[in-house]
Amino acid sequence: MIKIHQNYPLKQSNSFGLESTASIYIETDDSSELINELKNNTIDISNPLFLGTGSNIVLSTPVVGTVIHATNKEITVLEESRDSVLIKCGAGMDWDEFVKWTVSKNYGGLENLSLIPGSVGAAPIQNIGAYGTEAAICVESVVAIDFASARKFSLTREECHFGYRDSQFKRPESKYWMVWEVIFLLEKDPRVNLSYKPLKEFFPPEYRPDIREIREAVIKIRSSKLPDPAVFGNAGSFFKNPVVSACQAGLMKEKYPDIPTYYHNPGTVKIPAGWLIETCGWKGLRRGQVGIYPKQALVIVNYGGATADEIISLANEIQESVKTEFGIKLEMEVRIV
Ligand SMILES: Cc1cc2nc3c(=O)[nH]c(=O)nc-3n(C[C@H](O)[C@H](O)[C@H](O)COP(=O)(O)OP(=O)(O)OC[C@H]3O[C@@H](n4cnc5c(N)ncnc54)[C@H](O)[C@@H]3O)c2cc1C
Repeated sequence: MIKIHQNYPLKQSNSFGLESTASIYIETDDSSELINELKNNTIDISNPLFLGTGSNIVLSTPVVGTVIHATNKEITVLEESRDSVLIKCGAGMDWDEFVKWTVSKNYGGLENLSLIPGSVGAAPIQNIGAYGTEAAICVESVVAIDFASARKFSLTREECHFGYRDSQFKRPESKYWMVWEVIFLLEKDPRVNLSYKPLKEFFPPEYRPDIREIREAVIKIRSSKLPDPAVFGNAGSFFKNPVVSACQAGLMKEKYPDIPTYYHNPGTVKIPAGWLIETCGWKGLRRGQVGIYPKQALVIVNYGGATADEIISLANEIQESVKTEFGIKLEMEVRIV
């Protein structure tokens, strides 16, 4: 079924809690009906905004263009072998509800991504990642609807061009693609991933947790570190961790011996953006109703009533100071609309 709303309030539809409206807001769980509407040109698709739960977005007021929100939440087991299971999940499903379901079935692969806010449909967009893994590892394919040609099509994992907080869906040529379903390949005899140090250190040495225990641990660690958007509006990490050449990192280490670096690809390392921001003195700083979360310098928070402009201007200031101090241009992870 398709529901079309006019002047739809979006305050509850973004985790920053920004006041905004959509002149046209469409919600649907029916791809055939949606495709028919597209074929009949009844939807203005000149500037579509596909919105999940709004947990990685800064919304302007009002949003220009049509907002489309998927509400299909069905989980279907497509194939099962001795070792693995292929599962299709609707884009409108809550990500963490889906992870909880996979863990309850002892299907392994997504447990380290527990408690990431958002919808299943948004997971491939920036290839969500945390605690030593990323969605791309388990995504087998993605079913999308192209609003320009009014057709449904499928992309393999390779065609999704997943990268660090990146995918084909972020490219300009994919502007009209709405993720409709995501197909995951999960393990039936799960291997646990303790590659992320704080997660490994959560358990006693030599202890081999199962995926239920991993999920519980991730939830505990995340809850202690990150602000709950229901209390302080935020969108998680505001910036990506910059990737620099090993050579540049070496030069930086001469000036900042304790700069943390993590292997990324051969010849490149990742530097935690939070460390760069904190070293520039931003942690805990507040400008009116916006500020940097005191426990995590990578998170910008809305202390109540902030505007998109205030958030963007603080983000710009942070970018400038990191550029001046380290010569590194921080890239925003959050989408500005
Ligand atoms: C407290 C907190 C912690 C977070 N922690 C993490 C983390 O650990 N790791 C991480 O990777 N992210 C994290 N995030 C960011 C966020 O949870 C993810 O980016 C999530 O995938 C966003 O889902 P969403 O449904 O809210 O997407 P939205 O914010 O609604 O949209 C995000 C982007 O995806 C696009 N999009 C959404 N749905 C569709 C669709 N069906 N088809 C096409 N495009 C679509 C939007 O147009 C937009 O560009 C965190 C956010 C918060 C608030």
